[in-house]
Amino acid sequence: MIYIVNPSYRFLKDKNRVILHSVDRINDNHSEISFWGIIHPLHAQMFSFFNGENNLENVLFEISKHFNLSYDYIKALIPQFINNTQRVNITYKERTITFPRFFLIEKKQNIEYIKYNASDFNFSGNVDLFEMRLSVPHSIMLILTMNCYTNCQYCYAKKNLKTTNALTTKRIIDLIHEASEIGVSNFDLNGGEIILHKDCYEIISEMISCGYDPYISTKVPLNKSQIDHLVEIGIKNIQISIDSLETNYVKDILHVNSNYIQLITEMLYLLESKKINVIVNTIINKNNSDINQINRLVVFLSKYKNIVEINFTNATYSIYRPAENFERIKTSMSFLNLLSTRIEEFKNKYPRIHFYYSFSNLYNEFRNSSAFKKRGFCSGNLNSLVILPDGKVTICEELYDNPNFIIGDASTESITDIWNSKKANDLHTLNCTDYFKDTICERCEDYAICRQLHKVCWREVIAAYGEDKWNYPSPLCPKSPMPINDIYIK
Ligand code: SF4
Ligand code: SF4
Repeated sequence: MIYIVNPSYRFLKDKNRVILHSVDRINDNHSEISFWGIIHPLHAQMFSFFNGENNLENVLFEISKHFNLSYDYIKALIPQFINNTQRVNITYKERTITFPRFFLIEKKQNIEYIKYNASDFNFSGNVDLFEMRLSVPHSIMLILTMNCYTNCQYCYAKKNLKTTNALTTKRIIDLIHEASEIGVSNFDLNGGEIILHKDCYEIISEMISCGYDPYISTKVPLNKSQIDHLVEIGIKNIQISIDSLETNYVKDILHVNSNYIQLITEMLYLLESKKINVIVNTIINKNNSDINQINRLVVFLSKYKNIVEINFTNATYSIYRPAENFERIKTSMSFLNLLSTRIEEFKNKYPRIHFYYSFSNLYNEFRNSSAFKKRGFCSGNLNSLVILPDGKVTICEELYDNPNFIIGDASTESITDIWNSKKANDLHTLNCTDYFKDTICERCEDYAICRQLHKVCWREVIAAYGEDKWNYPSPLCPKSPMPINDIYIK
């Protein structure tokens, strides 16, 4: 039997350690979607022997030779990583190193995967497995424009963000080059609608020539010439938001004309004829919380051979809209439970399409110590940053120009200088007295492990308590006060 490192995961060298993380688009139903952890480079060297060329016995032999360890020792060590239905934890110098589920899998025909070499992970000096912040950002997102085609009622964006001096196209291209030179793995564009930026094709094309695979996400019903242009510059995947096929829905929630669905249908035909893969995002809100409506949508989408993935998420509280807006649009826990069961049925019925769902801000997470312990970590300023249309750099897309999270200005500063700036480092190390004076967190005995290591979601804190209370505890924390805003799905 031949095994490989599951292509849903990647190794990323960061100085003298290795980051093990999920890829953006995993293509099976059991790998972990957003895994992120630090492993020792020796682990990466060991697993690089699973390169799909040798059977298990030979790989074990190669590993034992490389590390000068007994074959029997390696033979006893490796099986726990093969088709593992649970994470594997290894203790190394007081640090727990975690490997995700289904880490080593059987090599199947036509599977695409990366071949690593042990020498890719050579290192010298001390190995730091504690510091979570990377030496270079792994991902950069550039918000090209705040202009939109639709006006979605569930939109989380700060629509009134003022952009007086937008970044020039020349500066954007310089930033793409710098990102590529310093080793940033992902450079993505977002909006608004990126397709509405006057030089979007030039920018996307430059990204592709620098080795990036830009994720084009749109609600614009693209016409033939726009699609031809995207094909010409090398786009192979596109993400489209479609929530419903109902005319009333598109008029009431997206605020577009009733011919919108017709235009989207024509776009899907064109994309199919050009063999562009389509990932569909469906946002669940009160107006499409109807299982028959979702069923019709999935049946319709399943007819297109190029629909490769359908993702369901729920609309969440926008920190830039009045609280009553969320009351009008929020779905219910009972519908999300029903939908998750139906999605499992879709997986069996339409095996060609990958179905995912991720529901957030659910009431049972509020002040729930187990949910709090299992929370995802905040990637903002740990491995990613976001550039706003005017060049200001923040740690999270949803925080926009909130001055507490602005760490630099890409119109004049380099990415490296911004990433290494005092503001970025201070915001990461989070000195308790500087940031949390007179708050519950300041007096909390778990401060170091919670705020400095695991982090909490700043957006969720602001949604629950308001912009001026951004340093309040996470509303998931059992010690948190009652939220001022009703941000949860019940
Ligand atoms: S969020 Fe909760 S656990 Fe974390 S530091 Fe604040 S009070 Fe402590
Ligand atoms: S603040 Fe919240 S939404 Fe923003 S990056 Fe962090 S976890 Fe994600």
